[in-house]
Amino acid sequence: MKRPSIPSSRGLSVSVKTAKRRSAASARWLARQLNDPYVTAAKQQGWRSRAAFKLLELDDRFHLIKRGARVLDLGAAPGGWTQVAVRRGASSVLAVDLLQVDPLPGATILQADFTDADMPERLVALLGGEADLVLSDMAPNTTGHAATDHIRIVALAEMAVDFAIRVLTPGGGFVAKVFQGGSERQMLDNLKRHFAQVKHAKPPASRKESSELYVVALGFKGRTEG
Ligand code: SAM
Repeated sequence: MKRPSIPSSRGLSVSVKTAKRRSAASARWLARQLNDPYVTAAKQQGWRSRAAFKLLELDDRFHLIKRGARVLDLGAAPGGWTQVAVRRGASSVLAVDLLQVDPLPGATILQADFTDADMPERLVALLGGEADLVLSDMAPNTTGHAATDHIRIVALAEMAVDFAIRVLTPGGGFVAKVFQGGSERQMLDNLKRHFAQVKHAKPPASRKESSELYVVALGFKGRTEG
């Protein structure tokens, strides 16, 4: 498909006054949205979220989405990554989120909590075979306490790793969002045992002020090893 044009922030600046009913925090959020070139580009290019650009950039760099791939997209709402996987040639995408995701041709959508005990069996049944790529952009609601937020997101990412090891086909890939904070050592060790390459990446679309980054693991070694 045609490469998306990656937005630039030059020349944009919209200020937002704090109206009586608008808190300073929501005015800041609104100003950031209005001044964010990725938000504008997402609207223009028909992506459901600015997050779509993060996967586009990761895919440009790591060639994650192979033509005909089966992709599992964890934490999919509102569906930006799912759109990217479909538009870049995945043959099937299973998208899971706590929130409702509007229907998207080429994707199967499941509104559910990935941490539910019966979820691995349900997802394996829905996938109907091994996956080529497991993506997790899951993020719990942040508490504002960095250490707590870090532990919570790593816990979700660790569950995604365990699931990826269970469902990936040899050679498959895995991507998960984490926050910088240092407690993901065990997860990285686990990934290194099961994948040929493990890297950290901060795509340009990920806001500089956010401690978010992505773990990218390539070349799943298969379940008999490690
Ligand atoms: N990748 C998405 C896109 O491109 O539109 C954005 C994902 S958003 C940053 C994170 C999502 O993770 C939220 O929609 C949230 O509901 C979901 N999430 C958090 N915990 C979850 C869980 N336990 N099970 C399923 N989804 C979860």
